Amino acid sequence: MTPGNELEPAIRILGDINASLIALDLEGYITGWNGGAERLFGYGSDEILGQHVLTLYAEETEDEADLFNHVISAGETTLEVKRRHKDGREFWVQIHLNVVRDEAGRPLRMVGFIHDISDQISDQIRSRLLASVFKHTPDAIVITDENARLIECNPAYLGMMGDQLPQLLGKVPGFMREEIGRKGANKITIDAHLQTMGHWEGELWLRRSNGDVFPAWLSLSAVHGREKSLLNYFAVMADLSERKAAEEQIFRLAYFDTLTRLPNRSHLFSLLEQALSEARRQQSSGALLCFNIAGFKAINDSFTHRGGDEILVVVAERIRSCLRDEDVLARFGGDEFCIGLFDIRQREDAAIVAERIMAAVALPYYIQQEEIVIKAHIGMSVFPEDGRDADKLINLAAIAMHRAKQGRQSALFYSSEMNQRSLARLKLSTDLHHALERDEFELYYQPQVSAKTGLICGAEALVRWRHPQRGLVPPNEFIPFAEETGLIVAIGSWVFKAACRQLAQWRQQGLLLERIAINLSPRQFSHRLVAELTAVLAEYQIAAEWIELEITETLLMKADEDISAILDQLHQAGFTLALDDFGTGYSNLGYLRSFPLDYLKIDQSFVRGLPQNSSNVAIVRAIIGIAQNLDLQLIAEGVENDEQAQFLASLDCHQLQGYYLARPLPVHEFEALPPTRILFEPKAA
Ligand code: C2E
Ligand code: CA
Ligand code: CA
Repeated sequence: MTPGNELEPAIRILGDINASLIALDLEGYITGWNGGAERLFGYGSDEILGQHVLTLYAEETEDEADLFNHVISAGETTLEVKRRHKDGREFWVQIHLNVVRDEAGRPLRMVGFIHDISDQISDQIRSRLLASVFKHTPDAIVITDENARLIECNPAYLGMMGDQLPQLLGKVPGFMREEIGRKGANKITIDAHLQTMGHWEGELWLRRSNGDVFPAWLSLSAVHGREKSLLNYFAVMADLSERKAAEEQIFRLAYFDTLTRLPNRSHLFSLLEQALSEARRQQSSGALLCFNIAGFKAINDSFTHRGGDEILVVVAERIRSCLRDEDVLARFGGDEFCIGLFDIRQREDAAIVAERIMAAVALPYYIQQEEIVIKAHIGMSVFPEDGRDADKLINLAAIAMHRAKQGRQSALFYSSEMNQRSLARLKLSTDLHHALERDEFELYYQPQVSAKTGLICGAEALVRWRHPQRGLVPPNEFIPFAEETGLIVAIGSWVFKAACRQLAQWRQQGLLLERIAINLSPRQFSHRLVAELTAVLAEYQIAAEWIELEITETLLMKADEDISAILDQLHQAGFTLALDDFGTGYSNLGYLRSFPLDYLKIDQSFVRGLPQNSSNVAIVRAIIGIAQNLDLQLIAEGVENDEQAQFLASLDCHQLQGYYLARPLPVHEFEALPPTRILFEPKAA
């Protein structure tokens, strides 16, 4: 009999006591098993004896070799571990392991006393869990005594308040005091709620230890004891400042313009509706102003968008400075602003504000070290005469603004006559669409004359519209409109083709014309242009050299790589390129050099008043200087009398064009020009 076996009877004796006992050899094989163990684990001793103790483990993660070594050297140990019942159920046990030794002190075996501690453990786990929630939840939690003095709080609360526990213990927290404003609730209502319902929940302002005030959500409960006596207050709080900031950010993005921080278009409508319904109620009147910067595109082109943005910000500030607090200023998009004036007594009040705005906006701006001056147009509609809702008032003010722009006026009130005009525009657009199909366009030709010989050397083709009701419509009445709507592309194609056909026909008839000048709108500049034009040349067997293409300064100012490439291709194809209306754009003379130009056309506004008007004389001399410098030929437009013609000829201007020499003429009149073809006799220099 090994000494160990002497113990088996003892274990069996203990079999009936409630405690579970097992014996293990030094390798962990079960050698003893009492009734308690049988009840606890469900195995009978016949099943389990000789099995390894691992059979009882719930998890195989414990390192039993280490454990046994530890027990053997320490003599005993207590552990709380999970075990598995024969039916698979897991439960917590406390094991007290003892080592049994022989007289020489050599370890013989181990004996374990095992208690089921599942109930105890689940309580512990629960409270540990609660403690961990208390510790880790992002919500701030505070527990106070019945006098609202803090007895416990979690790290989230300390973090939120920026405080340490010792400073708070025993003190009444801010949310239980009166001094902090409570949104939608005051101490009296909160206390009343706590008394009747035992609970209050809502938003309020809290103050951090550094003095910052922030919005928070508070849920406050009173905890009562058995005799309904108040024991504690229990508060859970969430810091709303981040969420508020995010909400505000979303609101800002949706309703405010990011550049000027003004309300945007959609916000404007709701602000206006609000203000208008207030005005309706009070029977007061108001006005709506649409403000637009003239030629803003050119500013963007010359100063890049950054420069344009800088100006917009300053413009917004200047407009704002002319308004009262209750007036609404919004950015409508691009270079357009809307202004709502409320409680004005009469139209004149709105006009005065418009004037003030104009004056403020007209002051110089300094962008990229350059001083620039801008012009603007304002259209105004008046409430309630012109309309009663925001939508309508904005529309009417916009119509008035466009009208102001066309008439080069600074500010205009809407009038019903304008509406008629916009209806007329609508009709114009429909008619213009049909004009091409119905072949209602015609070309007139205006001679261009050599300043040296007086001989006709070319002609500019100028389009006319023979409208069935209105008769002959000059291009100024439909070309700008056609440019806006894009119809100019189709009209331009027609013009080019018609001019080429005419030139071919004249050549066949023996009417020799060095060149025909054809106007090209910037909108015609697409990658298809060169192929289209050269195809027409081929169709009529015309050399590109016989065609002069007149382009505008606006085209060159916005010229990107694509446009530059198209200009180069046109030049290479042999076309002559002329820059029309030279001097009227925002010109930066440097750009002239970068394009393959042949001619400059001096705008008629500079020719007018020659040679008396000394500033025009200076401008024309300067333009001639530039042309000579860049090796460009010059054509003067709008020559209306002999004095002008002689003066320009004396300045070495190459060609002249204008009513003095000939008006734009229909084909048969052009053909009937004097056979000598001399229209002007230059005085000998
Ligand atoms: P533009 O290209 O500057 O054409 C010259 C304009 O000045 C013509 O007006 C012509 O009739 C006018 N004019 C000529 N000599 C004199 C003069 O001595 N005194 C005055 N006061 N005016 C003179 P028009 O034909 O009414 O054309 C106006 C504008 O319409 C043109 O200005 C051009 O920008 C545009 N346009 C005309 N035809 C076409 C076209 O086929 N395509 C495109 N894109 N634009 C065209
Ligand atoms: Ca022209
Ligand atoms: Ca011109």
